[in-house]
Amino acid sequence: QSYDVEEIEGVGRVTAQKLRESGYNTALDVAYAGVKELADVLGSEDRARQIIAAAQRLVGLNNFVTALEVYERKRNVQYISTGVKALDELLGGGIETRAITELAGEFGSGKTNFCHQLSVMVQLPEDKGGLKGKALFIDTENTFRPERIVQIAKYRGLDPKEALKNIFYARAYNSDHQMLIIDEAKKIIPKENIRLIVIDSLVAHFRSEYPGRENLAERQQKLNHHIAQLLKLADIYNAAVVVTNQVIAQPDMFFGNPLKPAGGNVIAHGATYRIWLRKGKENIRVARILDSPMHPESEATFKITEEGLID
Ligand code: ADP
Ligand code: MG
Repeated sequence: QSYDVEEIEGVGRVTAQKLRESGYNTALDVAYAGVKELADVLGSEDRARQIIAAAQRLVGLNNFVTALEVYERKRNVQYISTGVKALDELLGGGIETRAITELAGEFGSGKTNFCHQLSVMVQLPEDKGGLKGKALFIDTENTFRPERIVQIAKYRGLDPKEALKNIFYARAYNSDHQMLIIDEAKKIIPKENIRLIVIDSLVAHFRSEYPGRENLAERQQKLNHHIAQLLKLADIYNAAVVVTNQVIAQPDMFFGNPLKPAGGNVIAHGATYRIWLRKGKENIRVARILDSPMHPESEATFKITEEGLID
């Protein structure tokens, strides 16, 4: 059930208007809001705290839930097929909603292609592996290619023009802009039935703006907040969030994988799934899952072609 913001105790017409203008369209949005962010809208932290508490009472948001509720919520999770059978099997059905999936890999490993593919796959009807939803594509490196969408859409039996219309595109120019876009996204996600949010790449701006050890704490703090916002959107709107992450070399590492994702631990904790991508021969790519609470570690291969990702 969905409640209007007016139904929150203590919210009148003027406050409701303010809330809506800032993207809090329903009581649920307010219930999930942070005190600081809502204080920016309402003018004081006390007032924000009071309104959030009232919203939480209204929508029945409790700090404690029973395991049955967790189970039911989990059943609510849906999957977006990757379009690659082997990969869907590896992922236990595809890319999950209500979760963040991180694609980690070196330059050219296929992260951006993967993002294009999913932006088309999410549009397919459910019996073809999609969610009949739209995508939001946030591009930080200027590597989005609509021509690629056209190729993939044709191969998947969609009208290319429709497929392009169903992808909302935003270019993020710096980390603050990137965070602002996510803040604004809550206005269009429910209205447009957006079920997939892509950020390609999640960390590039943060890394270039906060270089070195001396800036690490501030960078991780901002990134942490950003990831928390993403998880919230994924949860509220039952959407899949897919982010890419470049990998960096660890020169001091003698054993094991000498590469590691650039975002560090914050991402390891924030991302529900991490898919490692690496190049094989020619157009072959290998995907490997690590850090998954559900799936045993294993690998799948796929190809990158004119038609997108295929088995
Ligand atoms: P990343 O984002 O991880 O850096 P990309 O997704 O950009 O990697 O992958 C780049 C690779 O994708 C290129 O090396 C190229 O081999 C392949 N690729 C891109 N477009 C096509 C296409 N139209 N047909 C076949 N392969 C392509
Ligand atoms: Mg890329």
